[in-house]
Amino acid sequence: MAILPIYLYGTDILKKKARAVDGVDSSIIKLMVDLAQTMRKANGIGLAATQVGDMRQMLVVDQTAIERAARDEEEEEDAPLPSEVKTLVMINPFVVDEEGTISLEEGCLSIPELRAEVNRAERIRVKFRDDNFDEKELTAEGFLGRVILHEIDHLNGILFVDRIGKTRKTFLNSELKRIKKGEVDTSYPVVTALEV
Ligand SMILES: [Zn+2]
Repeated sequence: MAILPIYLYGTDILKKKARAVDGVDSSIIKLMVDLAQTMRKANGIGLAATQVGDMRQMLVVDQTAIERAARDEEEEEDAPLPSEVKTLVMINPFVVDEEGTISLEEGCLSIPELRAEVNRAERIRVKFRDDNFDEKELTAEGFLGRVILHEIDHLNGILFVDRIGKTRKTFLNSELKRIKKGEVDTSYPVVTALEV
């Protein structure tokens, strides 16, 4: 098990497409565990393998954090907190159907401290392989759907700042340049564009 450094905005690897995985072996299991650990260490709610420089199509989502956020939104304060930590693992995920559009604020562990509103589908149906490499299908909306779409984008070499309007991106340019130059302070290990 290991905490892996996260590649930051400006590194070429984040623009590359990941390749499909053809089965679960010990190196895939290690990647699952490392991704989940790295995500939690960095206080993220989702992490794609691309972000740690591994070009296999895998992502993890912190389901516990998502359930907690949904609970806060509904103000169901009496509802019990999830007692176990649950991680959703998706291998070779792809969207088979989507509906509606919604604008929500996003952030990204590869683009620290920067947030922006992004338009994406409101409800999605995704096919993927789970941690046993069994075929699965999931319908997701709200926060969960959003996180899955953001992470699938990573596997295709797309960042959330690629999905915002040109004008809005201009406002973020100086911040993006700062990250590119490695002028960031994160609580987790990173690889900046200067180091690769
Ligand atoms: Zn991200």
